Amino acid sequence: MTSYKDLGLVNTKEMFAKAVKGGYAIPAFNFNTMEQMQAIVQAAVETKSPVIMQVSKGARKYANATILRYMAQGAVEYAKELGCAKPQIVLHLDHGDSFELCKDCIDMGFSSVMIDGSSLPYEENIALTKKVVDYAHKYDVTVEAELGVLAGVEDEVASEVSHYTKPEEVIDFAKRSGCDSLAISIGTSHGAYKFKPEQCTRDPKTGKLVPPPLAFDVLHAIEKKLPGFPIVLHGSSSVPQDEVDTINKFGGKLPDAVGIPEEQLREASKSAVCKINIDSDSRLAMTAAIRKYLAENPAHFDPRQYLTPARENMKKMYIHKIVNVLGSNDKL
Ligand SMILES: [Zn+2]
Repeated sequence: MTSYKDLGLVNTKEMFAKAVKGGYAIPAFNFNTMEQMQAIVQAAVETKSPVIMQVSKGARKYANATILRYMAQGAVEYAKELGCAKPQIVLHLDHGDSFELCKDCIDMGFSSVMIDGSSLPYEENIALTKKVVDYAHKYDVTVEAELGVLAGVEDEVASEVSHYTKPEEVIDFAKRSGCDSLAISIGTSHGAYKFKPEQCTRDPKTGKLVPPPLAFDVLHAIEKKLPGFPIVLHGSSSVPQDEVDTINKFGGKLPDAVGIPEEQLREASKSAVCKINIDSDSRLAMTAAIRKYLAENPAHFDPRQYLTPARENMKKMYIHKIVNVLGSNDKL
């Protein structure tokens, strides 16, 4: 048993309370590689932002859970080395799908876990979440639950259609499950193809797809039921058009990729939404930089040569999100 406290990590409790009060949201960036981790830490330190580094089941499979744990510990030490006296870094399991997986993460030093029982019947979701909460709280680990279903594909999490969270269920769910935060479904979606073209309208000037707006009425109804309770948005990448264009220009093929407009996420950040998950935008930033570099420097083959601009591009994106979308800068 390794406690996250010994690794210098923190749970989400105080962080979320401050974010809800202060009208901003904490960035939750997924990571699988050293370059992503470095970019996340550099961005968080430079902007003085708390940050959630999250690991999906797919990331554990790709990078190995033990390595990711030591990378998170390394992230804390790296942040200190970069001049941050008291880094606020959470190591979070994204979309835990069983009690055993959550327990395994808690036992190896994660400070926060998500148990995603959103595909289960309501009562089973409560029972599974409560089981994880009972274990996690013994070790001061915070638990995110999910109610409602998001559309889209993220690692092994996939659903064809979304079902908005029902505001009339949230009080009962939060009370009986004991969760510390709740991921809700209001129209965000996993992946770089969040909406089918037929769900969108086309901007007559640019010909680009405009996605349907988020269901702010559902969000506000949930806030009213659970005042001050931390709300989480998954699938909140914006799929920046310039990165998609760069990828397509240098040999990629991402037709009609579409994300959540940043103005809507900015608006959500000011509400009880205190954690916003961003994964696809980092993948796009990395891939765009690598494709461009390799196309322009066909004779180069040292990974450091193309991973340096990839890391820089991700860092630029993380800083942009923190400062211009979530507002979590200058909070340390
Ligand atoms: Zn998710």
